[in-house]
Amino acid sequence: MCRKSLIKVSFLAVLILLSFVVSAPAVEPGMVNTVLGPVKAETLGTTLMHEHFAFAYPGWFADSTIAPYDYDATLKTNLEIIKKAQKYGIATIVDATTNDVGGRDPKLYKALAKKTGINIICSTGMYTEQEGSPAYFKTRQDWYGTDIAKMISEVFIKEITDGIGTSGVKAGVIKVGTSGGGPISRYETSVLKAAVIAQKATGLPIITHTSGPVGGIEQADLFLKEGADPKKVMIGHVSNSKDIEYHKAILAKGVYVAFDRFGLEIMTPTPVLVKIVAQLCKEGYANQIMLSHDTVNVWLGRPYDPPKPLLKILANWRIDHISENVLPALKKLGVTDEQIKTMMVDNPRNLFLGK
Ligand SMILES: [Zn+2]
Repeated sequence: MCRKSLIKVSFLAVLILLSFVVSAPAVEPGMVNTVLGPVKAETLGTTLMHEHFAFAYPGWFADSTIAPYDYDATLKTNLEIIKKAQKYGIATIVDATTNDVGGRDPKLYKALAKKTGINIICSTGMYTEQEGSPAYFKTRQDWYGTDIAKMISEVFIKEITDGIGTSGVKAGVIKVGTSGGGPISRYETSVLKAAVIAQKATGLPIITHTSGPVGGIEQADLFLKEGADPKKVMIGHVSNSKDIEYHKAILAKGVYVAFDRFGLEIMTPTPVLVKIVAQLCKEGYANQIMLSHDTVNVWLGRPYDPPKPLLKILANWRIDHISENVLPALKKLGVTDEQIKTMMVDNPRNLFLGK
């Protein structure tokens, strides 16, 4: 081959390679980003859609001289907890810890997944204005007029396509939240818009935090207005509300809802939630409902000693509460095995597939 045609061929090869890099999707159709790499959505199995292996409210690092992050202890505690979940056939856990709080640790997630064989899907996302850490973005928005929806969406997209930091671990869901009911604040509107921009770019599902027994309707409305795929949206913490009409109003938007605080009895006691979920199943909503606990297996920062009565109330706030207590209670109220499979296996899978 002459030099000229060699140059032509190599130029063509570079072009083909470039076009592949530019057009390569964040994750291939039918696949899901776990912390150990993409897996087929079909293989996720029984899934808990909202848990935390480690968590701390922003500011915890201000206390880290006294209470530094103990990686080994965090790993050990979580290994024991994951084994308990696996005993009940839990095959996938989504960690909903966002970028701006403590505890999102790709190295920990990878070690846990490798040592136990469980699928772990981690988040890219921002927490609420009240309990997250928005000062960095808000000052840019307020002082310089920066388009922070675009700015935040760039973080989300990068963490989905290239990975979190230098870890190589790619986020599998986009997690965002709001502080309460009524109009969503300017900052949180930007965060939710960023989530939709990232979904459009990557095809990933959005999962949410709502605060108190409100906010789910406003979130769903904003996502739909911005053009999110309702089949790739899961409105979280609807279990904060005891009002079935609130749940139905969100379900009417065509999105998924998550009763994902089972065991957090101070929000809504388990028997109340079981009744609501059973009623919704009876009325044909099983294919839009997911169940989880929002457990925090390790709280980072200084240990504290909760009052004994509180510990008693929260005794069932643990990774196996749904498997051990909630599913049998649902069955007693007429929920079928098929409906349980729909909520625990099919809906999580379909959220990732947009079905
Ligand atoms: Zn959570």
